[in-house]
Amino acid sequence: MKITSKTALLILQPTPFCNINCAYCYLPGRSDKAVMPAEKMGELFRKVVTFPTIKDDVAVIWHAGEPLVMGAPYYATVFEGMRADCPEGLTISHCFQTNGTLITREWCDLFLAWNVDVGVSIDGPKEFHDAVRVTRRGGGTHTKAMQGITCLRDAGVPFHVISVLTRRSLADPRAMFEFYRDNDIRRIAFNIEEKEGVNQEHCFGDDVTSEEVIAFMREFFELMKREQFPIEVREFEQALAWIRFSDELAQSNEQVDPFGIITIDVHGNVYTFSPELAGYSFGDYPSFAVGNVFTDSFDDMANSATLRRMSDEIGRGVELCRQECEYFSVCGGGAPSNKIFENGSFATTETVFCRLTKKAVTKFVLDVIETAAGTSAERVRGEPAVAEHGP
Ligand code: SF4
Repeated sequence: MKITSKTALLILQPTPFCNINCAYCYLPGRSDKAVMPAEKMGELFRKVVTFPTIKDDVAVIWHAGEPLVMGAPYYATVFEGMRADCPEGLTISHCFQTNGTLITREWCDLFLAWNVDVGVSIDGPKEFHDAVRVTRRGGGTHTKAMQGITCLRDAGVPFHVISVLTRRSLADPRAMFEFYRDNDIRRIAFNIEEKEGVNQEHCFGDDVTSEEVIAFMREFFELMKREQFPIEVREFEQALAWIRFSDELAQSNEQVDPFGIITIDVHGNVYTFSPELAGYSFGDYPSFAVGNVFTDSFDDMANSATLRRMSDEIGRGVELCRQECEYFSVCGGGAPSNKIFENGSFATTETVFCRLTKKAVTKFVLDVIETAAGTSAERVRGEPAVAEHGP
Protein backbone atom coordinates (compact mmCIF):
# COMPACT_ATOMS: atom_id res chain seq x y z
CA MET A 1 0.00 0.00 0.00
CA LYS A 2 1.41 3.40 -0.95
CA ILE A 3 1.69 5.64 2.10
CA THR A 4 2.02 9.37 1.54
CA SER A 5 1.11 10.79 4.95
CA LYS A 6 3.39 12.47 7.45
CA THR A 7 3.40 11.30 11.06
CA ALA A 8 2.27 14.14 13.32
CA LEU A 9 2.16 12.20 16.60
CA LEU A 10 4.22 9.31 17.88
CA ILE A 11 2.69 7.87 21.05
CA LEU A 12 5.01 5.68 23.06
CA GLN A 13 4.05 3.44 25.95
CA PRO A 14 7.01 2.71 28.22
CA THR A 15 4.58 0.90 30.52
CA PRO A 16 0.84 0.24 30.45
CA PHE A 17 0.74 0.48 34.26
CA CYS A 18 -1.08 3.30 35.99
CA ASN A 19 -0.75 4.06 39.70
CA ILE A 20 -4.42 5.02 39.94
CA ASN A 21 -7.65 3.51 38.63
CA CYS A 22 -10.12 6.04 37.19
CA ALA A 23 -13.70 4.86 36.83
CA TYR A 24 -13.88 5.83 33.14
CA CYS A 25 -10.40 4.69 32.06
CA TYR A 26 -10.30 2.93 28.66
CA LEU A 27 -6.77 1.48 29.03
CA PRO A 28 -6.98 -2.32 29.11
CA GLY A 29 -3.61 -3.05 30.76
CA ARG A 30 -3.44 -0.43 33.48
CA SER A 31 -2.58 -3.04 36.12
CA ASP A 32 0.14 -4.61 33.96
CA LYS A 33 3.60 -3.67 35.28
CA ALA A 34 5.50 -4.56 32.08
CA VAL A 35 8.10 -1.96 31.12
CA MET A 36 10.20 -1.27 28.05
CA PRO A 37 13.83 -0.88 29.20
CA ALA A 38 15.62 2.32 28.16
CA GLU A 39 17.98 0.52 25.78
CA LYS A 40 15.03 -1.18 24.06
CA MET A 41 13.30 2.21 23.75
CA GLY A 42 16.48 3.47 22.08
CA GLU A 43 16.36 0.56 19.61
CA LEU A 44 12.69 1.35 18.92
CA PHE A 45 13.51 5.00 18.22
CA ARG A 46 16.37 4.18 15.84
CA LYS A 47 13.99 1.96 13.88
CA VAL A 48 11.01 4.29 13.87
CA VAL A 49 12.96 7.27 12.50
CA THR A 50 13.64 5.22 9.38
CA PHE A 51 9.89 5.20 8.59
CA PRO A 52 9.30 7.39 5.51
CA THR A 53 6.38 9.10 7.27
CA ILE A 54 8.63 10.48 10.03
CA LYS A 55 9.95 13.76 8.69
CA ASP A 56 10.50 17.43 9.61
CA ASP A 57 9.00 17.37 13.08
CA VAL A 58 7.13 14.95 15.27
CA ALA A 59 5.56 15.26 18.73
CA VAL A 60 6.33 12.29 20.96
CA ILE A 61 3.60 11.73 23.53
CA TRP A 62 4.48 9.56 26.51
CA HIS A 63 1.17 8.08 27.57
CA ALA A 64 -1.13 5.00 27.50
CA GLY A 65 -0.41 4.26 31.15
CA GLU A 66 0.90 6.75 33.72
CA PRO A 67 4.25 7.79 32.20
CA LEU A 68 5.68 9.10 35.48
CA VAL A 69 5.75 5.66 37.13
CA MET A 70 8.94 5.04 35.10
CA GLY A 71 10.86 7.67 37.14
CA ALA A 72 12.62 10.77 35.82
CA PRO A 73 16.08 9.11 35.29
CA TYR A 74 14.50 6.73 32.75
CA TYR A 75 13.45 9.63 30.54
CA ALA A 76 16.74 11.50 31.04
CA THR A 77 18.49 8.44 29.56
CA VAL A 78 15.93 7.89 26.80
CA PHE A 79 15.80 11.57 25.77
CA GLU A 80 19.61 11.75 25.61
CA GLY A 81 19.66 8.67 23.38
CA MET A 82 16.96 10.08 21.13
CA ARG A 83 18.82 13.33 20.76
CA ALA A 84 21.97 11.47 19.79
CA ASP A 85 20.11 9.26 17.29
CA CYS A 86 17.83 11.93 15.83
CA PRO A 87 18.49 12.28 12.10
CA GLU A 88 19.45 15.68 10.78
CA GLY A 89 16.41 17.75 9.80
CA LEU A 90 14.05 16.01 12.23
CA THR A 91 12.81 17.92 15.28
CA ILE A 92 11.43 15.95 18.22
CA SER A 93 9.27 17.51 20.93
CA HIS A 94 8.20 15.63 24.04
CA CYS A 95 4.76 15.73 25.67
CA PHE A 96 3.56 14.05 28.86
CA GLN A 97 -0.05 13.47 29.80
CA THR A 98 -0.02 12.67 33.50
CA ASN A 99 -2.41 12.26 36.40
CA GLY A 100 -0.11 14.62 38.32
CA THR A 101 0.10 12.56 41.50
CA LEU A 102 3.79 11.70 41.13
CA ILE A 103 5.17 15.11 40.15
CA THR A 104 8.17 16.19 42.22
CA ARG A 105 10.88 18.83 41.84
CA GLU A 106 13.02 16.21 40.06
CA TRP A 107 10.33 15.87 37.42
CA CYS A 108 10.03 19.63 37.06
CA ASP A 109 13.77 19.86 36.41
CA LEU A 110 13.43 17.24 33.65
CA PHE A 111 10.42 19.04 32.12
CA LEU A 112 12.34 22.33 32.07
CA ALA A 113 15.57 20.83 30.78
CA TRP A 114 13.79 19.13 27.87
CA ASN A 115 11.10 21.74 27.27
CA VAL A 116 8.42 19.10 27.81
CA ASP A 117 4.79 20.01 27.12
CA VAL A 118 2.95 18.87 30.28
CA GLY A 119 -0.74 18.07 30.48
CA VAL A 120 -2.27 17.23 33.87
CA SER A 121 -5.58 15.40 34.16
CA ILE A 122 -7.79 17.09 36.77
CA ASP A 123 -11.56 16.89 36.65
CA GLY A 124 -12.31 20.18 38.42
CA PRO A 125 -13.13 20.62 42.13
CA LYS A 126 -12.26 17.91 44.63
CA GLU A 127 -15.77 16.50 44.96
CA PHE A 128 -16.08 16.02 41.18
CA HIS A 129 -12.55 14.71 40.68
CA ASP A 130 -12.52 12.31 43.64
CA ALA A 131 -15.78 10.69 42.54
CA VAL A 132 -14.05 9.21 39.47
CA ARG A 133 -10.27 9.63 39.62
CA VAL A 134 -9.53 7.17 42.40
CA THR A 135 -6.83 4.84 43.68
CA ARG A 136 -7.22 1.06 43.50
CA ARG A 137 -8.59 1.24 47.04
CA GLY A 138 -11.15 3.83 45.99
CA GLY A 139 -9.53 6.85 47.65
CA GLY A 140 -9.55 10.27 46.00
CA THR A 141 -6.48 11.61 44.16
CA HIS A 142 -7.30 15.32 43.98
CA THR A 143 -5.05 16.40 46.84
CA LYS A 144 -2.01 14.70 45.34
CA ALA A 145 -2.73 15.94 41.83
CA MET A 146 -3.05 19.52 43.13
CA GLN A 147 0.26 19.12 44.98
CA GLY A 148 1.72 18.19 41.59
CA ILE A 149 0.27 21.35 40.06
CA THR A 150 1.73 23.45 42.88
CA CYS A 151 5.09 21.84 42.26
CA LEU A 152 4.90 22.68 38.53
CA ARG A 153 3.91 26.24 39.29
CA ASP A 154 6.66 26.76 41.91
CA ALA A 155 9.23 25.48 39.43
CA GLY A 156 7.90 27.65 36.59
CA VAL A 157 6.87 24.70 34.37
CA PRO A 158 4.11 25.69 31.93
CA PHE A 159 1.27 23.18 31.81
CA HIS A 160 -2.29 22.71 30.70
CA VAL A 161 -5.14 20.77 32.30
CA ILE A 162 -7.39 18.17 30.71
CA SER A 163 -10.75 17.68 32.45
CA VAL A 164 -13.16 14.89 31.65
CA LEU A 165 -16.69 16.20 31.89
CA THR A 166 -19.01 13.90 33.76
CA ARG A 167 -22.74 14.23 34.33
CA ARG A 168 -22.06 16.13 37.56
CA SER A 169 -19.57 18.65 36.18
CA LEU A 170 -21.56 19.22 33.00
CA ALA A 171 -24.44 20.39 35.18
CA ASP A 172 -22.26 22.85 37.08
CA PRO A 173 -20.19 25.10 34.78
CA ARG A 174 -19.81 27.67 37.56
CA ALA A 175 -18.07 25.20 39.88
CA MET A 176 -15.73 24.19 37.03
CA PHE A 177 -14.97 27.80 36.13
CA GLU A 178 -14.33 28.81 39.74
CA PHE A 179 -11.95 25.88 40.15
CA TYR A 180 -9.77 27.07 37.25
CA ARG A 181 -10.03 30.71 38.29
CA ASP A 182 -9.17 30.06 41.94
CA ASN A 183 -6.18 27.94 40.93
CA ASP A 184 -5.08 30.32 38.18
CA ILE A 185 -5.33 27.61 35.51
CA ARG A 186 -5.33 29.32 32.12
CA ARG A 187 -5.10 26.50 29.54
CA ILE A 188 -7.64 23.70 29.58
CA ALA A 189 -9.18 21.02 27.42
CA PHE A 190 -12.48 19.27 28.00
CA ASN A 191 -13.03 15.62 27.19
CA ILE A 192 -16.43 13.99 27.41
CA GLU A 193 -16.53 10.56 28.94
CA GLU A 194 -16.38 8.19 25.98
CA LYS A 195 -17.60 4.70 25.23
CA GLU A 196 -14.24 3.26 24.32
CA GLY A 197 -12.36 0.05 24.89
CA VAL A 198 -13.06 -1.26 28.36
CA ASN A 199 -15.10 1.80 29.30
CA GLN A 200 -18.44 0.59 27.98
CA GLU A 201 -20.46 0.66 31.18
CA HIS A 202 -19.53 3.91 32.84
CA CYS A 203 -20.12 6.00 29.77
CA PHE A 204 -22.73 8.69 30.25
CA GLY A 205 -22.47 10.25 26.79
CA ASP A 206 -25.44 8.26 25.48
CA ASP A 207 -27.78 10.19 27.77
CA VAL A 208 -26.33 13.64 27.21
CA THR A 209 -27.84 15.95 24.64
CA SER A 210 -26.01 18.45 22.45
CA GLU A 211 -28.11 21.15 24.13
CA GLU A 212 -26.63 20.25 27.52
CA VAL A 213 -23.08 20.53 26.17
CA ILE A 214 -23.89 23.84 24.47
CA ALA A 215 -25.51 25.16 27.66
CA PHE A 216 -22.35 24.23 29.61
CA MET A 217 -20.08 25.91 27.05
CA ARG A 218 -22.28 29.02 26.91
CA GLU A 219 -22.33 29.50 30.68
CA PHE A 220 -18.59 28.82 30.93
CA PHE A 221 -17.90 31.37 28.18
CA GLU A 222 -20.15 33.96 29.85
CA LEU A 223 -18.36 33.47 33.18
CA MET A 224 -14.98 34.04 31.53
CA LYS A 225 -16.23 37.31 30.08
CA ARG A 226 -18.12 38.49 33.15
CA GLU A 227 -15.30 37.72 35.57
CA GLN A 228 -12.64 38.88 33.13
CA PHE A 229 -10.69 35.68 33.56
CA PRO A 230 -9.83 34.45 30.06
CA ILE A 231 -8.99 30.77 29.73
CA GLU A 232 -7.66 29.11 26.58
CA VAL A 233 -10.24 26.38 26.03
CA ARG A 234 -8.91 23.88 23.48
CA GLU A 235 -12.37 23.12 22.12
CA PHE A 236 -13.14 26.79 21.37
CA GLU A 237 -9.74 27.33 19.80
CA GLN A 238 -9.94 24.18 17.68
CA ALA A 239 -13.40 25.06 16.41
CA LEU A 240 -12.24 28.57 15.48
CA ALA A 241 -9.15 27.21 13.73
CA TRP A 242 -11.23 24.70 11.77
CA ILE A 243 -13.59 27.47 10.66
CA ARG A 244 -10.81 29.95 9.87
CA PHE A 245 -8.52 27.49 8.07
CA SER A 246 -11.06 24.94 6.90
CA ASP A 247 -9.49 24.50 3.45
CA GLU A 248 -6.18 23.38 4.90
CA LEU A 249 -7.46 21.57 7.97
CA ALA A 250 -10.25 19.58 6.32
CA GLN A 251 -7.51 17.56 4.67
CA SER A 252 -5.61 17.01 7.91
CA ASN A 253 -7.47 14.60 10.15
CA GLU A 254 -4.48 12.50 11.23
CA GLN A 255 -6.77 9.88 12.74
CA VAL A 256 -7.91 8.77 9.27
CA ASP A 257 -4.47 8.83 7.60
CA PRO A 258 -2.44 5.63 7.75
CA PHE A 259 0.61 6.42 9.95
CA GLY A 260 -0.61 9.99 10.56
CA ILE A 261 -0.51 8.89 14.20
CA ILE A 262 1.67 5.98 15.28
CA THR A 263 1.19 4.32 18.67
CA ILE A 264 3.72 1.76 19.85
CA ASP A 265 2.98 -0.31 22.93
CA VAL A 266 5.31 -1.66 25.58
CA HIS A 267 5.97 -4.81 23.52
CA GLY A 268 6.73 -2.94 20.29
CA ASN A 269 3.34 -3.57 18.64
CA VAL A 270 2.53 -0.81 16.18
CA TYR A 271 -0.91 0.79 15.78
CA THR A 272 -2.09 3.62 13.65
CA PHE A 273 -5.24 5.72 13.20
CA SER A 274 -6.79 6.38 16.65
CA PRO A 275 -4.40 5.76 19.56
CA GLU A 276 -7.33 4.31 21.54
CA LEU A 277 -7.27 1.22 19.29
CA ALA A 278 -4.02 0.03 20.87
CA GLY A 279 -4.33 -3.21 22.79
CA TYR A 280 -7.88 -4.05 21.72
CA SER A 281 -9.61 -6.71 19.72
CA PHE A 282 -13.11 -6.04 18.42
CA GLY A 283 -15.52 -8.14 16.37
CA ASP A 284 -13.48 -9.96 13.72
CA TYR A 285 -10.38 -7.86 14.38
CA PRO A 286 -8.29 -10.05 16.71
CA SER A 287 -5.97 -7.06 17.05
CA PHE A 288 -5.59 -3.63 15.46
CA ALA A 289 -1.77 -3.94 15.44
CA VAL A 290 -0.30 -3.60 11.95
CA GLY A 291 3.03 -5.17 12.94
CA ASN A 292 5.84 -5.04 15.46
CA VAL A 293 8.54 -2.42 15.32
CA PHE A 294 11.27 -4.88 16.34
CA THR A 295 10.45 -7.61 13.84
CA ASP A 296 8.64 -6.03 10.89
CA SER A 297 9.79 -3.52 8.30
CA PHE A 298 7.77 -0.42 7.47
CA ASP A 299 6.81 -2.04 4.17
CA ASP A 300 5.59 -5.17 6.00
CA MET A 301 3.28 -2.99 8.08
CA ALA A 302 2.15 -0.82 5.17
CA ASN A 303 1.18 -3.98 3.26
CA SER A 304 -0.30 -5.90 6.18
CA ALA A 305 -3.80 -7.27 5.77
CA THR A 306 -4.89 -5.43 8.93
CA LEU A 307 -3.76 -2.05 7.65
CA ARG A 308 -5.32 -2.59 4.24
CA ARG A 309 -8.63 -3.62 5.71
CA MET A 310 -8.73 -0.80 8.25
CA SER A 311 -7.76 1.78 5.61
CA ASP A 312 -10.52 0.59 3.33
CA GLU A 313 -13.20 0.67 6.04
CA ILE A 314 -12.03 3.97 7.55
CA GLY A 315 -11.90 5.51 4.06
CA ARG A 316 -15.50 4.42 3.43
CA GLY A 317 -16.53 5.96 6.75
CA VAL A 318 -14.85 9.26 5.82
CA GLU A 319 -16.58 9.23 2.45
CA LEU A 320 -19.96 8.71 4.12
CA CYS A 321 -19.20 11.60 6.47
CA ARG A 322 -18.24 13.79 3.51
CA GLN A 323 -21.54 13.02 1.78
CA GLU A 324 -23.86 13.20 4.77
CA CYS A 325 -22.49 15.56 7.39
CA GLU A 326 -22.62 19.34 7.27
CA TYR A 327 -19.77 19.44 9.78
CA PHE A 328 -17.34 17.55 7.57
CA SER A 329 -15.29 20.62 6.72
CA VAL A 330 -14.59 21.20 10.41
CA CYS A 331 -14.09 17.53 11.27
CA GLY A 332 -12.61 15.57 8.40
CA GLY A 333 -14.41 12.36 9.26
CA GLY A 334 -13.99 11.92 13.01
CA ALA A 335 -12.29 9.32 15.17
CA PRO A 336 -12.21 5.71 13.88
CA SER A 337 -11.99 4.34 17.44
CA ASN A 338 -15.30 5.94 18.39
CA LYS A 339 -16.91 4.66 15.21
CA ILE A 340 -15.95 1.05 15.79
CA PHE A 341 -16.51 1.01 19.56
CA GLU A 342 -19.84 2.84 19.35
CA ASN A 343 -21.23 1.79 15.97
CA GLY A 344 -19.50 -1.57 15.47
CA SER A 345 -17.79 -0.52 12.22
CA PHE A 346 -15.27 1.99 10.93
CA ALA A 347 -17.42 2.50 7.83
CA THR A 348 -20.01 4.61 9.66
CA THR A 349 -20.64 8.26 10.44
CA GLU A 350 -22.05 9.89 13.55
CA THR A 351 -20.97 8.88 17.04
CA VAL A 352 -21.91 10.20 20.46
CA PHE A 353 -18.37 11.54 20.64
CA CYS A 354 -18.63 13.61 17.45
CA ARG A 355 -22.15 14.74 18.27
CA LEU A 356 -21.11 16.11 21.66
CA THR A 357 -17.60 17.35 20.95
CA LYS A 358 -17.38 18.27 17.27
CA LYS A 359 -20.92 19.19 16.34
CA ALA A 360 -22.13 20.76 19.60
CA VAL A 361 -18.95 22.76 20.14
CA THR A 362 -18.83 24.01 16.55
CA LYS A 363 -22.47 24.99 16.79
CA PHE A 364 -21.78 26.89 20.00
CA VAL A 365 -18.81 28.77 18.49
CA LEU A 366 -20.86 29.66 15.40
CA ASP A 367 -23.70 30.88 17.65
CA VAL A 368 -21.26 33.16 19.49
CA ILE A 369 -19.92 34.57 16.20
CA GLU A 370 -23.41 35.05 14.79
CA THR A 371 -24.65 36.74 17.95
CA ALA A 372 -21.66 39.09 17.95
CA ALA A 373 -22.21 39.88 14.26
CA GLY A 374 -25.97 40.21 14.67
CA THR A 375 -26.63 37.82 11.79
CA SER A 376 -27.11 34.14 11.05
CA ALA A 377 -25.54 31.81 8.52
CA GLU A 378 -28.96 30.28 7.82
CA ARG A 379 -30.37 33.66 6.85
CA VAL A 380 -27.32 34.66 4.77
CA ARG A 381 -27.39 31.33 2.91
CA GLY A 382 -30.80 32.19 1.48
CA GLU A 383 -29.88 35.69 0.33
CA PRO A 384 -28.46 36.89 -2.99
CA ALA A 385 -24.86 38.06 -2.63
CA VAL A 386 -25.75 41.73 -3.08
CA ALA A 387 -22.62 43.24 -1.60
CA GLU A 388 -20.30 41.39 -3.97
CA HIS A 389 -21.88 43.04 -6.99
CA GLY A 390 -22.41 46.54 -5.61
CA PRO A 391 -20.81 49.72 -6.95
S1 SF4 B 1 -18.98 15.33 12.88
FE1 SF4 B 1 -19.32 13.09 12.99
S2 SF4 B 1 -20.64 12.60 11.27
FE2 SF4 B 1 -19.74 14.66 10.91
S3 SF4 B 1 -17.86 14.36 9.70
FE3 SF4 B 1 -17.29 14.31 11.85
S4 SF4 B 1 -17.38 12.14 12.44
FE4 SF4 B 1 -18.52 12.35 10.53
